[in-house]
Amino acid sequence: MNQIDMDKIVAHCKNTGFIFPGSEIYGGLANSWDYGPLGIELKNNIKKLWWEKFIQNRINSFGIDCAILMNPKVWEASGHVASFSDPLIDCKECKSRFRADNLISSYSNNNVNPDLLSKDEMYKYILENKIPCPVCKKSNFTPIREFNLLFQTHRGVTKESQQDIYLRPETAQGQYVNFLNVQRTMRAKLPFGIGQIGKAFRNEITPGNFTFRQIEFEQMEYQFFCREGEDEKYYKEFKQISKDFFVSLGIPEDKLKFHDHDKLAFYAKAACDLYYKFPFGWDEVNGIHNRTNYDLTRHQQYSGKNLQYLDPVTNEKFIPYVIENSYGLDRAILAVICNSYDVETLPDGDTREIMHILPKLAPYKVAILPLVKKDLSEKALQLYSSISQKFRTVYDDTGSIGKRYRRQDQIGTPLCITIDYDTLNDNSVTVRDRDSMKQIRLNIDTLEDYINKIVK
Ligand code: ATP
Repeated sequence: MNQIDMDKIVAHCKNTGFIFPGSEIYGGLANSWDYGPLGIELKNNIKKLWWEKFIQNRINSFGIDCAILMNPKVWEASGHVASFSDPLIDCKECKSRFRADNLISSYSNNNVNPDLLSKDEMYKYILENKIPCPVCKKSNFTPIREFNLLFQTHRGVTKESQQDIYLRPETAQGQYVNFLNVQRTMRAKLPFGIGQIGKAFRNEITPGNFTFRQIEFEQMEYQFFCREGEDEKYYKEFKQISKDFFVSLGIPEDKLKFHDHDKLAFYAKAACDLYYKFPFGWDEVNGIHNRTNYDLTRHQQYSGKNLQYLDPVTNEKFIPYVIENSYGLDRAILAVICNSYDVETLPDGDTREIMHILPKLAPYKVAILPLVKKDLSEKALQLYSSISQKFRTVYDDTGSIGKRYRRQDQIGTPLCITIDYDTLNDNSVTVRDRDSMKQIRLNIDTLEDYINKIVK
């Protein structure tokens, strides 16, 4: 793998239809991105895999899909209204804005952990070390202020009747407020899990490293409810599961590492993040937290509703513990893209752009390519209509066959099927493998089994 930088990846995603800058024709909107025709296929494939792993394949697991707008009391109970903030600092010279914690981490090459510093201590460190502004290189900062990341909006018709509400900054509160609904309707017994995939919104105002930090993003969150005493075992188990999940996306283990939190919230028993080695450095792709019975207890207090679980065997009533598994879908996608994009030098000295994306995640599984448009497109289109019923397929009859192979390599299509004059006589086609570039001859009748073998 060559050393690939983010600019190249951003350009590749834009040029090939994976990810476009949000509202681009109007000059964009900072930290917002749109998934294009290929990006949405990759996104759906990752979502499907996550859903299979966490909801479908696990016993006592239930999926939900909650409203983005929730009663504002939810966010008071969760603590987001009071303390969901970033330590912001502005450069007085060039007016650029930064997160003070990020400034310290990158200045110290991650040798100083800002999580362990108070706001005053962070400011002191920045002043004492004369940390330069990453943009203008001068060192003249404002004091640090806490900036709340909640997006606020209003509901109600008249100004007087308006109520402040929030776009959810995480999906997990939907699982907590529906804990009893799910438990009762599914007759669920502890331990059991509730998960959902959906949009979350944060007023992130610092630079985003492409889709790594956006104002609107998707999360895949799974709350696992269990008895106190079993929590430590499950926390460990879910740490391993998170690593396995990223390995199942094709990420090598040596590009993943855990970062255990040094400073825990007062209610938490343990917390860690899984980090992936992005081209811009190691950073978080998901978080696993042992949150004890804090969230349900808070919702019980704020809602006045009894959220206790009644043990059907012992008749004991208690609030369960929760292990929270919080995956950022966009960061998983970005990790897969960064990990699979490469520029390879071929034996003849030529280079090719390629995405070594796992076939099960590839946007298109198959490309159908008639060698000659004029005589062979009818047969090729026939094949396209039958294969595309089973697999996401693309049809391309423009340009030389070599150029068409390169186009598919660029977007990670694992198999190219070429229809030539022999196909008309013997019903056979050439099947080219993306990674090895090896070609084999197969009868059309055997294609479905062969593609299935490769992409499943
Ligand atoms: P960070 O420290 O990077 O701001 P966080 O610790 O605040 O992240 P969590 O609140 O634990 O993140 O959210 C769970 C997951 O949601 C993260 O691991 C990440 O994958 C994803 N996520 C959080 N914020 C964003 C964002 N602004 N853009 C894209 N994904 C995000």
